[in-house]
Amino acid sequence: AKNLGKNNYQYYNKQLSLNVNEQLQIEQALKKAISNNEIYLNYQPQYDLVSRKITAFEALARWESDELGFIPPDKFIPIAEDTGLIIDIGKHIFETACKAYVEFKSLNPSLKYIAINISSVQFKDKNFVDDILEIVSTYKIKPSEIELEVTERYVMEYSESNLNSMQQFRDLGFRFSIDDFGTGYSSMSYLTKFPIDVIKVDKAFIDGIPKDNNNVLISKAIVALSKSLNYKVVAEGIEEKVQEDFLKSISCDIGQGYFFSKPLNLEAAKKILKI
Ligand code: C2E
Ligand code: CA
Ligand code: CA
Ligand code: CA
Repeated sequence: AKNLGKNNYQYYNKQLSLNVNEQLQIEQALKKAISNNEIYLNYQPQYDLVSRKITAFEALARWESDELGFIPPDKFIPIAEDTGLIIDIGKHIFETACKAYVEFKSLNPSLKYIAINISSVQFKDKNFVDDILEIVSTYKIKPSEIELEVTERYVMEYSESNLNSMQQFRDLGFRFSIDDFGTGYSSMSYLTKFPIDVIKVDKAFIDGIPKDNNNVLISKAIVALSKSLNYKVVAEGIEEKVQEDFLKSISCDIGQGYFFSKPLNLEAAKKILKI
């Protein structure tokens, strides 16, 4: 830090230590979060753009801490990853999502799958496969009804172990979607090496459609590429009717976003399935 006045420097320092403190606080509280029953899920529906029916839900983690109040997943998931707490939290999320899916499916047998976000740290856990298999067999769910959402970054950090790990799940019948597609450092040639079913076009490329000409071109290109590689395409973060219309016109398969529905708690998710 050069040329910062004395006061500026102190201010900066104070901010920094506050953040470290906050991080530690979150870490401590997170350790008790599962046993305190503070972590739960919301479910955001995904709509088939042709039939306009719900085909799936994405499970999204929520944490209402006794001590710290509501902490969004963007904040606590990275801390859970750094501290290894994501292993237990991830297992809890997976089981909660499976349990909910059984209820959803009984209300609406045409539901195709539930999408669950999986952190790359979980794939490195040697018990992960067995844990997941035990859960799906307990709830009598076919692996093909579970979509594992992995980020583009994980897939593109190409390594034998990522590939082997994904292949193992694929051989067991699980589906894979690539989350936040387009935001990482994608090398298209890597895509075809991985067992992928679905590409999720990041909200950043859906924003401003159809006025934003760059996003119109990018989303068109991603949908066309995905189709030619035989992937299904989900557009994330659809907030307006014009976006839905455009995406449907370029043959995007599935839409997700506030325009259709915000993430819902379990009861609300069950309710919209009945309508
Ligand atoms: P993501 O997986 O990309 O999830 C989509 C995020 O966009 C969600 O935020 C969702 O609520 C939000 N969203 C959906 N539609 C719209 C829309 O139309 N407009 C806007 N502005 N936002 C929309 P959320 O639930 O806060 O989750 C944030 C991120 O935290 C997720 O991004 C994911 O990376 C991570 N995350 C959430 N739950 C889990 C989990 O169970 N496990 C792991 N590993 N990560 C999770
Ligand atoms: Ca996701
Ligand atoms: Ca995403
Ligand atoms: Ca995201």
